[in-house]
Amino acid sequence: MAWLLWIWALVTALAVSGRRALSYAFYRCKNRQHSLLMPMAVAGPLLFRIGYNLYAHTRLGYLLYKRQVKKARQRYPQGHSIPQPVEFNGLKILPIPVLSDNYSYLVIDTDSNSAVVVDPSDPLAVQRVIQEEKVTLEAILCTHKHWDHSGGNTALRRWYGSCRVYGSSFDNIPELTDPLTDKEAVVIGRLNFKALFTPGHTLGHMVYVLDGKPFEGPSSLFSGDLLFLSGCGRIFEGTPETMLASLDIAADLAEDTLLWPGHEYALECLMFASLLEAENPILKQKLQWVNQQRLEKRSTCPSTIGEEKQYNPFLRTHCKEIQEAMDLQRQREEDWDNFRARVLKEVRLRKDVYKANL
Ligand SMILES: [Zn+2]
Repeated sequence: MAWLLWIWALVTALAVSGRRALSYAFYRCKNRQHSLLMPMAVAGPLLFRIGYNLYAHTRLGYLLYKRQVKKARQRYPQGHSIPQPVEFNGLKILPIPVLSDNYSYLVIDTDSNSAVVVDPSDPLAVQRVIQEEKVTLEAILCTHKHWDHSGGNTALRRWYGSCRVYGSSFDNIPELTDPLTDKEAVVIGRLNFKALFTPGHTLGHMVYVLDGKPFEGPSSLFSGDLLFLSGCGRIFEGTPETMLASLDIAADLAEDTLLWPGHEYALECLMFASLLEAENPILKQKLQWVNQQRLEKRSTCPSTIGEEKQYNPFLRTHCKEIQEAMDLQRQREEDWDNFRARVLKEVRLRKDVYKANL
């Protein structure tokens, strides 16, 4: 089995490092018509595609995930960040830091002690919190198939036999018992979630909106790899147009909706955003706060949809500041959404090759 892992590691290393260099080559060559770089620009995405397909569609991806879990448990025995639970009247939301930067979430109806977990990556970390909180796990809500979001499904189903697994049937989600369609509700006691179909990162990506009304609080968006604090997921299985439509769904939620993302990427994403909008005062303020939080290894979630709209470049493709930073102008009679998709594509491309000095 070890040789398989070595091949996998080699392909991944080539795909990841090659992709950064080659995406940049592609970027340069597109803008400067440098003919020597063209073959590299074709090879880069191809190599990346091979790596991605191996990860997403074969057992090698699962083996890599198992290694990541093992390493992360050794490196971060207490989790990569200090989580800050949020409580309302009868509701508790507990971020569970897993792997090197993922979050699973335990959502508890504290009156009935029923709980739902979103994206259980490391089943042991989730089980530990379930036991500490003395709650009954009723359901797993999975945003998408990637192992760092769905890898814990099988073990949790084995340990908690009656727990259901919800997600999209378009994604190959392990142990899926209840396939969902767009806008379908998942009701567990007073926990009332609405599943929203948000493809782009994967074919069947879904996000979940928990209604805050029964708890006299704001609603919560569990956004998986659609939306992060100041960032968005990579467009692996879709087009910029699909991703834009999915991001618009998130942006249309109430401003006070709490954003619970799938990863702790806030610092890098805000540093990237400040390259595009150096003079945005809200962005500056948020970056300062996130810097402090991360120095203390504290989690940076939740933010709110209202906040995100003020500094997240992926939700600001309609803004002149971002369009100018991308050096893009709307063509005469160009459809507005087509133009915004072009802007999104460019921002995403620049973020793909960006590496913050952390
Ligand atoms: Zn993902």
